[in-house]
Amino acid sequence: MNDLTAPSPDPIAKLLIVGGGSAGWMAAAMLSRVLGSATEITLVESEAVGIVGVGEATIPPIRQFNRFCGIDEAQFLSATQATFKTGIQFEGWGKPGDSYIHAFGRVGQELDAVVRMHHWWRMGQAADLPDYPRFEELYLGRAATDLQRFGIDTDRPGKLAQLLPHAYHFDAIAYGQFLRGLCEQRGVKRVEGMVASANRNAETGDLTGVTLEDGRVLEAELFIDCSGFRSLLLGDALNQPFEDWSHWLPSDRAVVVQSTPTSEKILPTTRAIAHPVGWQWRIPLQNRIGNGHVYASDFSSDEDAEARLLETIDGQVTTQPRILRFRTGRRKMAWSHNVIALGLAAGFLEPLESTSIHLVQSSIERLVELFPSRGTDPALRDRFNAQTEREWKQVRDLIIAHYTINQRDDSEFWKHCATMQIPDSLKETLQLWEENGQLAIDGGHLFQLGSWAQVLIGQNLLPKRVHPLTSRAEPDAIAARIRKLAASLRQEAEVLPDHAAFIRQFRNSEAN
Ligand SMILES: Cc1cc2nc3c(=O)[nH]c(=O)nc-3n(C[C@H](O)[C@H](O)[C@H](O)COP(=O)(O)OP(=O)(O)OC[C@H]3O[C@@H](n4cnc5c(N)ncnc54)[C@H](O)[C@@H]3O)c2cc1C
Repeated sequence: MNDLTAPSPDPIAKLLIVGGGSAGWMAAAMLSRVLGSATEITLVESEAVGIVGVGEATIPPIRQFNRFCGIDEAQFLSATQATFKTGIQFEGWGKPGDSYIHAFGRVGQELDAVVRMHHWWRMGQAADLPDYPRFEELYLGRAATDLQRFGIDTDRPGKLAQLLPHAYHFDAIAYGQFLRGLCEQRGVKRVEGMVASANRNAETGDLTGVTLEDGRVLEAELFIDCSGFRSLLLGDALNQPFEDWSHWLPSDRAVVVQSTPTSEKILPTTRAIAHPVGWQWRIPLQNRIGNGHVYASDFSSDEDAEARLLETIDGQVTTQPRILRFRTGRRKMAWSHNVIALGLAAGFLEPLESTSIHLVQSSIERLVELFPSRGTDPALRDRFNAQTEREWKQVRDLIIAHYTINQRDDSEFWKHCATMQIPDSLKETLQLWEENGQLAIDGGHLFQLGSWAQVLIGQNLLPKRVHPLTSRAEPDAIAARIRKLAASLRQEAEVLPDHAAFIRQFRNSEAN
Protein backbone atom coordinates (compact mmCIF):
# COMPACT_ATOMS: atom_id res chain seq x y z
CA MET A 1 0.00 0.00 0.00
CA ASN A 2 1.18 3.54 -0.74
CA ASP A 3 2.15 5.70 2.18
CA LEU A 4 -0.24 8.63 1.63
CA THR A 5 1.38 10.68 4.34
CA ALA A 6 4.76 10.74 2.63
CA PRO A 7 5.88 14.26 1.71
CA SER A 8 6.45 15.16 -1.91
CA PRO A 9 9.77 13.52 -2.87
CA ASP A 10 11.47 16.59 -4.18
CA PRO A 11 9.91 19.86 -3.04
CA ILE A 12 10.81 23.12 -4.73
CA ALA A 13 13.48 24.76 -2.59
CA LYS A 14 14.01 27.95 -4.61
CA LEU A 15 11.43 29.95 -6.52
CA LEU A 16 12.23 33.08 -8.53
CA ILE A 17 9.66 35.69 -9.53
CA VAL A 18 10.80 38.00 -12.33
CA GLY A 19 8.93 41.32 -12.16
CA GLY A 20 7.48 43.46 -9.39
CA GLY A 21 4.25 44.84 -10.86
CA SER A 22 0.87 43.82 -9.46
CA ALA A 23 1.34 40.30 -10.85
CA GLY A 24 4.76 39.76 -9.26
CA TRP A 25 3.83 41.04 -5.82
CA MET A 26 0.47 39.26 -5.83
CA ALA A 27 2.28 36.01 -6.62
CA ALA A 28 4.84 36.66 -3.88
CA ALA A 29 2.09 37.49 -1.35
CA MET A 30 0.07 34.36 -1.98
CA LEU A 31 2.98 31.95 -2.44
CA SER A 32 4.83 33.19 0.65
CA ARG A 33 1.64 32.53 2.60
CA VAL A 34 1.20 28.97 1.36
CA LEU A 35 4.80 27.80 0.93
CA GLY A 36 6.07 29.11 4.25
CA SER A 37 9.78 28.86 4.97
CA ALA A 38 10.22 25.56 3.11
CA THR A 39 10.69 27.42 -0.15
CA GLU A 40 12.96 30.41 -0.59
CA ILE A 41 11.17 33.07 -2.65
CA THR A 42 13.14 35.78 -4.45
CA LEU A 43 11.64 38.56 -6.56
CA VAL A 44 13.82 40.47 -9.00
CA GLU A 45 12.67 43.71 -10.56
CA SER A 46 14.20 46.72 -12.20
CA GLU A 47 13.23 50.25 -11.22
CA ALA A 48 14.70 51.36 -14.55
CA VAL A 49 11.95 49.44 -16.36
CA GLY A 50 9.08 50.38 -14.03
CA ILE A 51 5.57 48.96 -14.04
CA VAL A 52 2.44 49.54 -16.13
CA GLY A 53 0.65 50.82 -13.00
CA VAL A 54 -2.81 51.44 -14.48
CA GLY A 55 -4.70 48.41 -13.14
CA GLU A 56 -7.12 50.41 -11.03
CA ALA A 57 -10.47 48.63 -11.27
CA THR A 58 -11.15 45.15 -9.91
CA ILE A 59 -13.96 42.62 -9.44
CA PRO A 60 -15.22 41.10 -6.16
CA PRO A 61 -12.99 37.97 -5.89
CA ILE A 62 -10.06 40.32 -5.08
CA ARG A 63 -11.50 40.43 -1.56
CA GLN A 64 -10.91 36.71 -1.10
CA PHE A 65 -7.35 37.17 -2.34
CA ASN A 66 -6.70 40.02 0.12
CA ARG A 67 -8.28 38.09 2.97
CA PHE A 68 -6.23 35.01 2.19
CA CYS A 69 -3.06 37.09 2.17
CA GLY A 70 -3.96 38.40 5.63
CA ILE A 71 -4.71 41.96 4.49
CA ASP A 72 -6.84 44.15 6.74
CA GLU A 73 -9.50 45.88 4.59
CA ALA A 74 -9.32 49.25 6.37
CA GLN A 75 -5.51 49.35 6.18
CA PHE A 76 -5.66 48.42 2.52
CA LEU A 77 -8.19 51.18 1.86
CA SER A 78 -5.89 53.75 3.45
CA ALA A 79 -2.71 52.54 1.79
CA THR A 80 -4.10 52.39 -1.74
CA GLN A 81 -6.57 55.34 -1.73
CA ALA A 82 -9.17 52.73 -2.60
CA THR A 83 -12.90 53.27 -3.07
CA PHE A 84 -15.63 50.65 -3.14
CA LYS A 85 -16.91 49.43 -6.49
CA THR A 86 -20.35 47.91 -7.08
CA GLY A 87 -20.19 47.48 -10.85
CA ILE A 88 -19.49 49.15 -14.18
CA GLN A 89 -21.72 51.70 -15.83
CA PHE A 90 -21.61 51.37 -19.62
CA GLU A 91 -22.54 54.56 -21.42
CA GLY A 92 -23.24 54.78 -25.14
CA TRP A 93 -22.65 51.09 -25.82
CA GLY A 94 -25.97 50.03 -27.42
CA LYS A 95 -26.77 53.31 -29.17
CA PRO A 96 -25.15 56.68 -28.47
CA GLY A 97 -26.95 58.03 -25.38
CA ASP A 98 -27.80 54.59 -23.94
CA SER A 99 -26.64 53.70 -20.46
CA TYR A 100 -26.80 50.57 -18.34
CA ILE A 101 -25.01 49.06 -15.39
CA HIS A 102 -23.31 45.69 -15.06
CA ALA A 103 -23.75 45.44 -11.31
CA PHE A 104 -22.06 42.81 -9.20
CA GLY A 105 -24.28 40.60 -7.15
CA ARG A 106 -27.61 38.92 -7.44
CA VAL A 107 -30.83 40.19 -8.85
CA GLY A 108 -32.84 41.72 -5.95
CA GLN A 109 -35.12 38.71 -5.66
CA GLU A 110 -36.07 35.84 -7.96
CA LEU A 111 -39.85 35.62 -8.48
CA ASP A 112 -39.78 31.85 -8.27
CA ALA A 113 -37.25 29.07 -8.05
CA VAL A 114 -37.91 27.72 -11.56
CA VAL A 115 -37.81 30.49 -14.16
CA ARG A 116 -34.95 32.98 -14.03
CA MET A 117 -35.72 36.61 -13.50
CA HIS A 118 -34.88 37.95 -16.93
CA HIS A 119 -37.73 35.83 -18.41
CA TRP A 120 -40.27 37.25 -15.96
CA TRP A 121 -38.99 40.76 -16.58
CA ARG A 122 -39.30 40.25 -20.34
CA MET A 123 -42.79 38.82 -19.98
CA GLY A 124 -43.84 41.73 -17.72
CA GLN A 125 -42.92 44.12 -20.51
CA ALA A 126 -46.06 42.89 -22.31
CA ALA A 127 -48.20 44.71 -19.70
CA ASP A 128 -46.87 47.94 -21.19
CA LEU A 129 -46.76 49.90 -17.93
CA PRO A 130 -45.51 53.46 -18.44
CA ASP A 131 -43.04 53.25 -15.54
CA TYR A 132 -41.97 49.64 -16.04
CA PRO A 133 -38.44 49.28 -14.57
CA ARG A 134 -35.42 48.57 -16.71
CA PHE A 135 -33.81 45.19 -16.07
CA GLU A 136 -30.82 46.81 -14.34
CA GLU A 137 -33.18 48.33 -11.73
CA LEU A 138 -33.61 44.81 -10.34
CA TYR A 139 -30.04 45.07 -9.03
CA LEU A 140 -29.24 47.10 -5.91
CA GLY A 141 -26.06 48.38 -7.61
CA ARG A 142 -28.20 50.52 -9.94
CA ALA A 143 -29.85 52.55 -7.19
CA ALA A 144 -26.65 52.67 -5.09
CA THR A 145 -24.83 54.15 -8.09
CA ASP A 146 -27.55 56.71 -8.80
CA LEU A 147 -27.45 57.85 -5.17
CA GLN A 148 -23.64 57.44 -4.78
CA ARG A 149 -24.16 55.32 -1.70
CA PHE A 150 -22.40 52.30 -0.31
CA GLY A 151 -22.32 50.31 2.89
CA ILE A 152 -21.35 47.00 4.38
CA ASP A 153 -24.15 45.70 6.54
CA THR A 154 -23.26 44.41 9.94
CA ASP A 155 -26.84 44.06 11.27
CA ARG A 156 -28.01 41.60 8.66
CA PRO A 157 -24.84 39.84 7.64
CA GLY A 158 -25.09 38.18 4.28
CA LYS A 159 -28.06 40.00 2.73
CA LEU A 160 -26.28 43.16 1.64
CA ALA A 161 -23.17 41.21 0.75
CA GLN A 162 -25.23 39.21 -1.74
CA LEU A 163 -27.11 42.16 -3.19
CA LEU A 164 -24.20 44.57 -3.17
CA PRO A 165 -20.94 42.62 -3.21
CA HIS A 166 -18.00 44.92 -3.72
CA ALA A 167 -14.67 45.17 -5.41
CA TYR A 168 -12.34 48.19 -5.33
CA HIS A 169 -10.89 50.97 -7.37
CA PHE A 170 -7.32 51.46 -6.16
CA ASP A 171 -3.92 52.93 -6.91
CA ALA A 172 -2.16 49.96 -8.54
CA ILE A 173 1.32 51.25 -7.72
CA ALA A 174 0.39 51.68 -4.07
CA TYR A 175 -1.18 48.20 -4.06
CA GLY A 176 2.09 46.69 -5.30
CA GLN A 177 4.05 48.54 -2.62
CA PHE A 178 1.56 47.50 0.05
CA LEU A 179 1.98 43.85 -0.96
CA ARG A 180 5.75 44.28 -1.11
CA GLY A 181 5.83 45.40 2.54
CA LEU A 182 3.81 42.35 3.52
CA CYS A 183 6.02 39.99 1.50
CA GLU A 184 9.28 41.37 2.85
CA GLN A 185 7.98 40.90 6.39
CA ARG A 186 7.34 37.27 5.48
CA GLY A 187 10.87 36.76 4.23
CA VAL A 188 10.52 37.26 0.46
CA LYS A 189 13.86 38.54 -0.79
CA ARG A 190 13.71 41.46 -3.27
CA VAL A 191 16.60 41.94 -5.68
CA GLU A 192 16.97 45.18 -7.62
CA GLY A 193 18.50 44.42 -11.00
CA MET A 194 17.99 44.17 -14.73
CA VAL A 195 17.56 40.65 -16.08
CA ALA A 196 19.75 40.32 -19.18
CA SER A 197 19.29 36.66 -20.09
CA ALA A 198 17.82 33.35 -19.01
CA ASN A 199 19.94 30.22 -18.65
CA ARG A 200 18.60 26.82 -19.74
CA ASN A 201 19.54 23.22 -19.10
CA ALA A 202 20.84 21.98 -22.44
CA GLU A 203 19.20 18.59 -22.01
CA THR A 204 15.73 19.35 -20.62
CA GLY A 205 15.31 22.92 -21.81
CA ASP A 206 14.22 23.89 -18.28
CA LEU A 207 15.40 27.21 -16.92
CA THR A 208 18.19 27.04 -14.37
CA GLY A 209 18.55 30.73 -13.61
CA VAL A 210 18.70 34.29 -14.90
CA THR A 211 21.76 36.46 -15.38
CA LEU A 212 21.51 40.13 -14.47
CA GLU A 213 23.19 42.93 -16.42
CA ASP A 214 25.82 43.30 -13.68
CA GLY A 215 26.74 39.60 -13.98
CA ARG A 216 24.94 38.27 -10.91
CA VAL A 217 23.17 34.95 -11.48
CA LEU A 218 19.91 34.06 -9.68
CA GLU A 219 19.24 30.34 -9.68
CA ALA A 220 15.95 28.58 -8.96
CA GLU A 221 13.95 25.45 -9.67
CA LEU A 222 10.64 27.15 -10.48
CA PHE A 223 10.20 30.51 -12.22
CA ILE A 224 7.21 32.86 -12.25
CA ASP A 225 7.39 35.22 -15.20
CA CYS A 226 5.75 38.52 -14.20
CA SER A 227 7.91 40.66 -16.46
CA GLY A 228 4.99 42.44 -18.11
CA PHE A 229 4.55 42.84 -21.85
CA ARG A 230 8.21 41.82 -22.33
CA SER A 231 7.44 38.24 -21.27
CA LEU A 232 11.14 37.70 -20.68
CA LEU A 233 11.02 34.04 -19.68
CA LEU A 234 7.93 32.51 -21.33
CA GLY A 235 8.07 34.63 -24.48
CA ASP A 236 11.75 35.48 -25.03
CA ALA A 237 13.58 32.56 -23.45
CA LEU A 238 11.11 29.72 -24.12
CA ASN A 239 9.68 31.18 -27.30
CA GLN A 240 6.11 30.31 -26.36
CA PRO A 241 3.91 31.42 -29.30
CA PHE A 242 1.46 34.31 -28.93
CA GLU A 243 -2.13 33.73 -30.01
CA ASP A 244 -3.28 37.02 -31.48
CA TRP A 245 -6.92 38.01 -30.84
CA SER A 246 -6.75 41.50 -32.31
CA HIS A 247 -9.03 40.54 -35.21
CA TRP A 248 -11.78 40.25 -32.58
CA LEU A 249 -10.67 43.10 -30.35
CA PRO A 250 -9.12 45.75 -32.60
CA SER A 251 -8.13 48.28 -29.91
CA ASP A 252 -4.37 48.31 -29.43
CA ARG A 253 -3.60 51.49 -27.50
CA ALA A 254 -4.66 53.51 -24.49
CA VAL A 255 -3.91 57.08 -23.51
CA VAL A 256 -4.08 57.69 -19.76
CA VAL A 257 -4.17 60.73 -17.46
CA GLN A 258 -5.13 61.46 -13.88
CA SER A 259 -7.37 64.32 -12.79
CA THR A 260 -8.71 65.96 -9.66
CA PRO A 261 -12.18 65.06 -8.40
CA THR A 262 -14.84 67.71 -9.01
CA SER A 263 -17.20 66.68 -6.25
CA GLU A 264 -16.97 65.49 -2.66
CA LYS A 265 -19.25 62.64 -3.63
CA ILE A 266 -17.62 59.45 -4.92
CA LEU A 267 -19.32 57.19 -7.45
CA PRO A 268 -19.14 53.54 -6.29
CA THR A 269 -18.88 52.46 -9.91
CA THR A 270 -16.43 52.42 -12.82
CA ARG A 271 -17.67 54.36 -15.86
CA ALA A 272 -16.95 52.87 -19.31
CA ILE A 273 -17.97 55.45 -21.87
CA ALA A 274 -18.06 54.48 -25.56
CA HIS A 275 -16.40 56.88 -28.01
CA PRO A 276 -16.49 56.97 -31.81
CA VAL A 277 -13.25 54.95 -31.67
CA GLY A 278 -13.16 52.71 -28.59
CA TRP A 279 -14.08 53.80 -25.09
CA GLN A 280 -12.98 55.71 -22.04
CA TRP A 281 -12.75 54.68 -18.40
CA ARG A 282 -13.31 56.94 -15.43
CA ILE A 283 -12.22 55.42 -12.13
CA PRO A 284 -12.72 57.35 -8.89
CA LEU A 285 -10.16 56.93 -6.10
CA GLN A 286 -10.29 58.82 -2.81
CA ASN A 287 -7.80 61.45 -3.92
CA ARG A 288 -8.02 61.46 -7.73
CA ILE A 289 -9.75 60.21 -10.83
CA GLY A 290 -8.03 57.75 -13.17
CA ASN A 291 -8.94 58.29 -16.82
CA GLY A 292 -7.97 56.38 -19.92
CA HIS A 293 -9.13 56.06 -23.49
CA VAL A 294 -8.75 52.67 -25.21
CA TYR A 295 -8.65 53.03 -29.00
CA ALA A 296 -7.61 51.29 -32.21
CA SER A 297 -4.67 52.81 -34.06
CA ASP A 298 -6.17 51.59 -37.36
CA PHE A 299 -9.04 54.03 -36.80
CA SER A 300 -7.53 56.93 -34.86
CA SER A 301 -4.24 58.80 -34.53
CA ASP A 302 -2.68 59.18 -31.08
CA GLU A 303 -3.23 62.95 -31.24
CA ASP A 304 -6.95 62.58 -31.92
CA ALA A 305 -7.28 60.00 -29.15
CA GLU A 306 -5.55 62.31 -26.68
CA ALA A 307 -7.78 65.21 -27.71
CA ARG A 308 -10.93 63.06 -27.33
CA LEU A 309 -9.87 62.07 -23.82
CA LEU A 310 -8.84 65.51 -22.64
CA GLU A 311 -11.98 67.25 -23.84
CA THR A 312 -14.18 64.98 -21.68
CA ILE A 313 -12.33 65.40 -18.39
CA ASP A 314 -14.23 67.52 -15.92
CA GLY A 315 -11.54 68.07 -13.23
CA GLN A 316 -8.03 69.44 -13.59
CA VAL A 317 -5.60 67.15 -15.42
CA THR A 318 -2.63 66.46 -13.12
CA THR A 319 -0.38 64.18 -15.20
CA GLN A 320 1.07 64.24 -18.71
CA PRO A 321 -0.90 62.02 -21.13
CA ARG A 322 0.85 58.64 -21.41
CA ILE A 323 0.30 56.26 -24.32
CA LEU A 324 0.40 52.50 -23.72
CA ARG A 325 0.57 50.08 -26.63
CA PHE A 326 -0.72 46.52 -26.39
CA ARG A 327 -1.59 43.48 -28.44
CA THR A 328 -4.68 41.52 -27.46
CA GLY A 329 -4.23 37.79 -27.06
CA ARG A 330 -2.30 35.32 -24.97
CA ARG A 331 0.66 32.97 -24.93
CA LYS A 332 -0.68 29.58 -26.01
CA MET A 333 0.61 27.87 -22.87
CA ALA A 334 0.98 29.97 -19.74
CA TRP A 335 3.02 27.16 -18.14
CA SER A 336 5.89 25.76 -20.17
CA HIS A 337 8.84 23.75 -18.79
CA ASN A 338 9.39 25.16 -15.27
CA VAL A 339 8.08 28.65 -16.08
CA ILE A 340 4.59 29.95 -15.29
CA ALA A 341 3.65 33.36 -16.66
CA LEU A 342 1.19 35.65 -14.90
CA GLY A 343 -0.25 39.04 -15.80
CA LEU A 344 0.88 40.85 -18.92
CA ALA A 345 3.65 38.28 -19.49
CA ALA A 346 0.87 35.74 -20.14
CA GLY A 347 -1.27 37.96 -22.37
CA PHE A 348 -3.59 40.93 -22.47
CA LEU A 349 -7.33 41.61 -22.57
CA GLU A 350 -8.47 45.21 -22.49
CA PRO A 351 -9.82 46.39 -19.13
CA LEU A 352 -13.49 46.75 -20.20
CA GLU A 353 -14.66 44.28 -17.53
CA SER A 354 -11.71 44.95 -15.14
CA THR A 355 -10.46 41.38 -15.41
CA SER A 356 -6.64 41.46 -15.73
CA ILE A 357 -5.82 41.53 -12.04
CA HIS A 358 -8.44 38.85 -11.53
CA LEU A 359 -6.79 36.64 -14.15
CA VAL A 360 -3.54 37.02 -12.21
CA GLN A 361 -5.34 36.02 -9.03
CA SER A 362 -7.07 32.98 -10.50
CA SER A 363 -3.84 31.73 -12.09
CA ILE A 364 -2.01 32.01 -8.77
CA GLU A 365 -4.82 30.10 -7.07
CA ARG A 366 -4.65 27.46 -9.80
CA LEU A 367 -0.89 27.22 -9.39
CA VAL A 368 -1.28 26.68 -5.66
CA GLU A 369 -3.80 23.93 -6.37
CA LEU A 370 -1.48 22.25 -8.89
CA PHE A 371 1.83 23.17 -7.29
CA PRO A 372 4.61 20.94 -8.67
CA SER A 373 7.56 19.22 -7.09
CA ARG A 374 11.00 19.55 -8.65
CA GLY A 375 10.86 18.38 -12.24
CA THR A 376 7.55 19.40 -13.81
CA ASP A 377 4.88 16.70 -13.96
CA PRO A 378 3.34 17.27 -17.41
CA ALA A 379 -0.12 16.31 -16.13
CA LEU A 380 -0.19 19.25 -13.69
CA ARG A 381 1.09 21.62 -16.33
CA ASP A 382 -1.48 20.45 -18.88
CA ARG A 383 -4.34 20.86 -16.46
CA PHE A 384 -3.15 24.35 -15.53
CA ASN A 385 -2.90 25.30 -19.19
CA ALA A 386 -6.31 23.90 -20.12
CA GLN A 387 -8.07 25.68 -17.26
CA THR A 388 -6.25 28.94 -17.93
CA GLU A 389 -7.08 28.84 -21.62
CA ARG A 390 -10.75 28.20 -20.91
CA GLU A 391 -10.96 31.07 -18.45
CA TRP A 392 -9.28 33.56 -20.80
CA LYS A 393 -11.58 32.58 -23.67
CA GLN A 394 -14.69 32.96 -21.54
CA VAL A 395 -13.67 36.44 -20.44
CA ARG A 396 -12.64 37.31 -24.00
CA ASP A 397 -16.10 36.39 -25.32
CA LEU A 398 -17.90 38.72 -22.90
CA ILE A 399 -15.59 41.56 -23.88
CA ILE A 400 -16.13 40.94 -27.60
CA ALA A 401 -19.90 40.81 -26.99
CA HIS A 402 -19.79 44.46 -25.87
CA TYR A 403 -18.37 45.44 -29.25
CA THR A 404 -20.30 43.17 -31.54
CA ILE A 405 -23.76 43.84 -30.06
CA ASN A 406 -24.12 47.50 -30.75
CA GLN A 407 -26.36 49.63 -32.89
CA ARG A 408 -23.83 52.39 -33.43
CA ASP A 409 -23.03 53.40 -36.97
CA ASP A 410 -21.49 56.78 -36.21
CA SER A 411 -17.93 55.80 -37.14
CA GLU A 412 -15.91 53.36 -39.23
CA PHE A 413 -14.76 51.76 -35.99
CA TRP A 414 -18.29 50.81 -34.87
CA LYS A 415 -19.30 49.72 -38.37
CA HIS A 416 -16.27 47.43 -38.33
CA CYS A 417 -17.23 46.01 -34.91
CA ALA A 418 -20.82 45.34 -35.99
CA THR A 419 -19.73 43.27 -38.97
CA MET A 420 -16.54 41.60 -37.74
CA GLN A 421 -16.22 37.83 -37.33
CA ILE A 422 -16.65 36.55 -33.78
CA PRO A 423 -15.46 33.31 -32.14
CA ASP A 424 -17.76 30.28 -32.59
CA SER A 425 -18.14 29.99 -28.82
CA LEU A 426 -19.62 33.51 -28.67
CA LYS A 427 -21.79 32.88 -31.71
CA GLU A 428 -23.32 29.90 -29.96
CA THR A 429 -23.90 31.89 -26.76
CA LEU A 430 -25.61 34.75 -28.58
CA GLN A 431 -27.80 32.49 -30.73
CA LEU A 432 -29.17 30.52 -27.81
CA TRP A 433 -29.80 33.76 -25.94
CA GLU A 434 -31.54 35.49 -28.80
CA GLU A 435 -33.76 32.54 -29.65
CA ASN A 436 -34.54 31.25 -26.16
CA GLY A 437 -33.20 33.58 -23.49
CA GLN A 438 -30.83 30.83 -22.33
CA LEU A 439 -27.06 31.02 -21.99
CA ALA A 440 -24.55 28.45 -23.19
CA ILE A 441 -22.28 28.94 -20.20
CA ASP A 442 -21.74 25.75 -18.33
CA GLY A 443 -20.21 25.71 -14.84
CA GLY A 444 -17.07 27.45 -13.75
CA HIS A 445 -17.63 30.69 -15.64
CA LEU A 446 -16.35 33.83 -13.99
CA PHE A 447 -19.28 35.75 -15.47
CA GLN A 448 -22.56 34.03 -14.75
CA LEU A 449 -26.03 34.45 -16.19
CA GLY A 450 -26.77 37.65 -14.25
CA SER A 451 -23.71 39.36 -15.74
CA TRP A 452 -24.42 38.27 -19.28
CA ALA A 453 -28.11 39.13 -18.98
CA GLN A 454 -27.33 42.67 -17.79
CA VAL A 455 -24.89 43.24 -20.64
CA LEU A 456 -27.03 41.71 -23.40
CA ILE A 457 -30.27 43.39 -22.30
CA GLY A 458 -28.37 46.62 -21.59
CA GLN A 459 -27.12 46.61 -25.18
CA ASN A 460 -30.65 45.92 -26.50
CA LEU A 461 -30.25 42.26 -27.46
CA LEU A 462 -33.51 40.92 -26.08
CA PRO A 463 -34.53 37.26 -26.31
CA LYS A 464 -37.26 36.68 -28.91
CA ARG A 465 -39.04 34.12 -26.75
CA VAL A 466 -39.68 33.98 -23.03
CA HIS A 467 -39.52 30.79 -21.05
CA PRO A 468 -42.70 28.77 -21.72
CA LEU A 469 -43.35 28.38 -17.98
CA THR A 470 -44.01 32.12 -17.64
CA SER A 471 -47.40 31.43 -19.23
CA ARG A 472 -48.49 30.29 -15.75
CA ALA A 473 -48.97 33.97 -14.82
CA GLU A 474 -50.54 37.13 -16.26
CA PRO A 475 -48.19 39.87 -17.50
CA ASP A 476 -50.03 42.51 -15.43
CA ALA A 477 -49.51 40.64 -12.17
CA ILE A 478 -45.84 39.98 -12.92
CA ALA A 479 -45.23 43.57 -14.00
CA ALA A 480 -46.71 44.82 -10.73
CA ARG A 481 -44.40 42.53 -8.72
CA ILE A 482 -41.37 43.62 -10.70
CA ARG A 483 -42.24 47.26 -10.18
CA LYS A 484 -42.56 46.62 -6.45
CA LEU A 485 -39.18 44.91 -6.34
CA ALA A 486 -37.44 47.80 -8.10
CA ALA A 487 -39.06 50.27 -5.67
CA SER A 488 -37.95 48.21 -2.67
CA LEU A 489 -34.35 48.18 -3.92
CA ARG A 490 -34.47 51.92 -4.31
CA GLN A 491 -35.62 52.22 -0.69
CA GLU A 492 -32.86 49.85 0.35
CA ALA A 493 -30.30 52.10 -1.35
CA GLU A 494 -31.74 55.25 0.22
CA VAL A 495 -30.83 54.05 3.71
CA LEU A 496 -27.25 53.21 2.76
CA PRO A 497 -24.57 55.70 3.84
CA ASP A 498 -23.07 58.19 1.45
CA HIS A 499 -20.15 56.35 -0.22
CA ALA A 500 -17.49 59.02 0.53
CA ALA A 501 -18.62 59.29 4.16
CA PHE A 502 -18.59 55.52 4.50
CA ILE A 503 -14.97 55.36 3.30
CA ARG A 504 -13.92 58.00 5.83
CA GLN A 505 -15.64 56.13 8.63
CA PHE A 506 -14.13 52.83 7.50
CA ARG A 507 -10.63 54.31 7.39
CA ASN A 508 -11.10 55.79 10.85
CA SER A 509 -11.98 52.36 12.15
CA GLU A 510 -8.38 51.41 11.31
CA ALA A 511 -7.00 54.27 13.43
CA ASN A 512 -9.05 53.17 16.49
C1 LIG B 1 -4.29 50.49 -20.47
C2 LIG B 1 -4.39 49.46 -19.40
C3 LIG B 1 -5.41 49.55 -18.43
C4 LIG B 1 -5.55 48.56 -17.46
N1 LIG B 1 -6.56 48.64 -16.54
C5 LIG B 1 -6.78 47.61 -15.70
C6 LIG B 1 -7.87 47.60 -14.79
O1 LIG B 1 -8.63 48.56 -14.68
N2 LIG B 1 -8.05 46.51 -14.02
C7 LIG B 1 -7.23 45.42 -14.08
O2 LIG B 1 -7.46 44.44 -13.40
N3 LIG B 1 -6.15 45.44 -14.88
C8 LIG B 1 -5.91 46.48 -15.70
N4 LIG B 1 -4.83 46.47 -16.52
C9 LIG B 1 -3.87 45.37 -16.45
C10 LIG B 1 -2.96 45.57 -15.27
O3 LIG B 1 -2.30 46.80 -15.34
C11 LIG B 1 -1.93 44.45 -15.27
O4 LIG B 1 -2.52 43.24 -15.55
C12 LIG B 1 -1.34 44.31 -13.92
O5 LIG B 1 -0.88 45.54 -13.46
C13 LIG B 1 -0.22 43.33 -13.94
O6 LIG B 1 0.85 43.86 -14.62
P1 LIG B 1 2.19 43.05 -14.58
O7 LIG B 1 2.63 42.96 -13.18
O8 LIG B 1 1.98 41.81 -15.34
O9 LIG B 1 3.21 43.92 -15.45
P2 LIG B 1 3.99 45.26 -15.12
O10 LIG B 1 3.22 46.16 -14.25
O11 LIG B 1 4.44 45.81 -16.44
O12 LIG B 1 5.28 44.81 -14.33
C14 LIG B 1 6.38 44.23 -14.99
C15 LIG B 1 7.54 44.07 -14.03
O13 LIG B 1 8.59 43.41 -14.69
C16 LIG B 1 9.80 44.08 -14.43
N5 LIG B 1 10.74 43.86 -15.53
C17 LIG B 1 10.49 43.91 -16.86
N6 LIG B 1 11.63 43.66 -17.55
C18 LIG B 1 12.60 43.44 -16.63
C19 LIG B 1 13.99 43.12 -16.70
N7 LIG B 1 14.65 43.00 -17.87
N8 LIG B 1 14.65 42.96 -15.55
C20 LIG B 1 14.03 43.07 -14.35
N9 LIG B 1 12.73 43.36 -14.22
C21 LIG B 1 12.03 43.55 -15.35
C22 LIG B 1 9.42 45.53 -14.26
O14 LIG B 1 10.40 46.21 -13.50
C23 LIG B 1 8.10 45.39 -13.51
O15 LIG B 1 8.39 45.28 -12.13
C24 LIG B 1 -4.63 47.48 -17.46
C25 LIG B 1 -3.60 47.43 -18.38
C26 LIG B 1 -3.46 48.40 -19.34
C27 LIG B 1 -2.33 48.32 -20.34
